[in-house]
Amino acid sequence: MQLNKQQLQGLPTPAYVYDTALLAATLDAIKAAVRDDANYHVHYAIKANDHPAILKQIAAAGLGADCVSGGEISAAIEAGFPAQKIGFAGVGKADWEIELAIKAGIGFFNVESREELEVISQIATALQTEARVCLRINPDVSANTHAHITTGREEDKFGIARQHMVEVIRLAQQLPYLSFVGLHFHIGSQLLDMTDYEALCARVNELQDLLEAEGITVPNINVGGGLGIDYADPDLHPIADFQNYIDTFRSHLRLRDGQQLHFEPGRAVVAQMGILLTRVLFVKHTETKDFVILDAGMTDLIRPALYGALHKIENISAEGSEVKTYDIVGPICESSDIFARDYQLPITKRGDLIAIRSAGAYGQTMASTYNHRSLPKTFLV
Ligand SMILES: *Cc1c(COP(=O)(O)O)cnc(C)c1O
Repeated sequence: MQLNKQQLQGLPTPAYVYDTALLAATLDAIKAAVRDDANYHVHYAIKANDHPAILKQIAAAGLGADCVSGGEISAAIEAGFPAQKIGFAGVGKADWEIELAIKAGIGFFNVESREELEVISQIATALQTEARVCLRINPDVSANTHAHITTGREEDKFGIARQHMVEVIRLAQQLPYLSFVGLHFHIGSQLLDMTDYEALCARVNELQDLLEAEGITVPNINVGGGLGIDYADPDLHPIADFQNYIDTFRSHLRLRDGQQLHFEPGRAVVAQMGILLTRVLFVKHTETKDFVILDAGMTDLIRPALYGALHKIENISAEGSEVKTYDIVGPICESSDIFARDYQLPITKRGDLIAIRSAGAYGQTMASTYNHRSLPKTFLV
């Protein structure tokens, strides 16, 4: 996003600032990448950013929603996503969430176990309403990303093992008030190497051949999300390469006649439109290091502490060109409350305004009130 010093100066901190023009341009890029493929469907993964105005803008652009809780389903409907464009994923769905989803008439459940399938059937039977289910299959493809955000290996908790796929599909076809409508996959997050997606395509092709031999038809294939963004240089790549991403599936996935293909990007839709705006409380000099202590901490943006993620950090107030090396930290009583070690900033002083970039995804949605802090505020520009 473009940083406008005047505009940001007056805002209270810490705060998330979202650039709705960049979001609009990103949504246009997604539409351009899909082209006129009427059988391609993009569902935005709400957990990345669930701000009501952002959800409204994404719903108005015609995307569907990928939800992982009852609360997200309610927020999606509130924002104007049509129920039939909503998918509900997650390893642990509570009964009330399943009931809410069936009553709302969502498009499909992404079911992660045999046990869950049975419970959805029971609840659908009680409501006398059919539930459409896709099965999330663990493709056993490992992606080149952080261990905490890879999800498609055999040892991960997600999905149904390949070797049980056929019997669980048969179960879904037999259980009352269920209709089996497709397969779902999701191999991880912050993926920039398209060979990971090529490996997923190869595995899906293999599974489809197997199902064809079994006489099982699969109306929908959902390849999940995970497209990464450029955290190091957000100004160079303000919009993720959706064209290359979607073309990878276009050229490597063998879809059957009439088959619908679903994507679920989260981060790539919203990360670059957001900054975490924060002020310098103190610059603390010690024998070994100089610390920039911010009024934002891991309670506002936990990604650095949780995944070792590195966000670009800019001093918006500094005027000189001389730089210095700092550890940039938050005020929270945890040693992991660090945004960056040995990071070069212009000479920084108390009161300077700092922008932590690429913070539109998994920022505000992961914020907490630890240390009895207030949740960060939000401004749309
Ligand atoms: C989190 C998640 C996504 C979105 O992942 P991103 O890396 O933000 O694109 C998509 N699908 C499922 C099932 C998820 O859990």
